[in-house]
Amino acid sequence: MGSFEFKSNSPEDTYAIAKNLGKLLQKNDILLLEGDLGAGKTTFTKGLAAGLEIKKNVNSPTFTIIKEYNGRLPLFHMDVYRVEDGFEDLGIDEYFFSGGVTVIEWAHIIEEQLPPEHLSIYITHDGDHNRKLKFEPTGERYEALCKELFNENLSD
Ligand code: ADP
Ligand code: MG
Repeated sequence: MGSFEFKSNSPEDTYAIAKNLGKLLQKNDILLLEGDLGAGKTTFTKGLAAGLEIKKNVNSPTFTIIKEYNGRLPLFHMDVYRVEDGFEDLGIDEYFFSGGVTVIEWAHIIEEQLPPEHLSIYITHDGDHNRKLKFEPTGERYEALCKELFNENLSD
């Protein structure tokens, strides 16, 4: 299965790429965000929220684990960085197919609880302001989504 790479040179770039993705999202989509602290996972989620027409400011949900926002579709934003036991019942499966978009920062920590089909996004530092965003789709829906996003950005 192919992967798709974007370069970002600023927080604004990361936000804009995510906003374009946010516009293409459909109910029950699941996005997994991976990357070190400060990589830009929350910045990316803010862009997604804009693409979903969410007006409220999106902040890191580290202490609450799950935050919910209303836009064109509901957004369920999770950060599982502090979860120590990957098998702990967080009740997250109730969100997955409830008609919204689920975004999980540090998703690999709860690997065992994730649906098999999803879009993984790996953000890596590449200097101070440069980031590499690698999109890895699993499943037809997410491959189609990546192709749509990638083609749009090529023609920009
Ligand atoms: P995470 O959620 O992965 O810990 P955040 O999005 O909270 O990361 O923070 C990313 C930090 O890196 C922000 O302070 C942001 O301004 C900065 N930054 C610098 N360059 C970029 C970039 N190209 N993309 C995203 N964030 C960037
Ligand atoms: Mg974060």
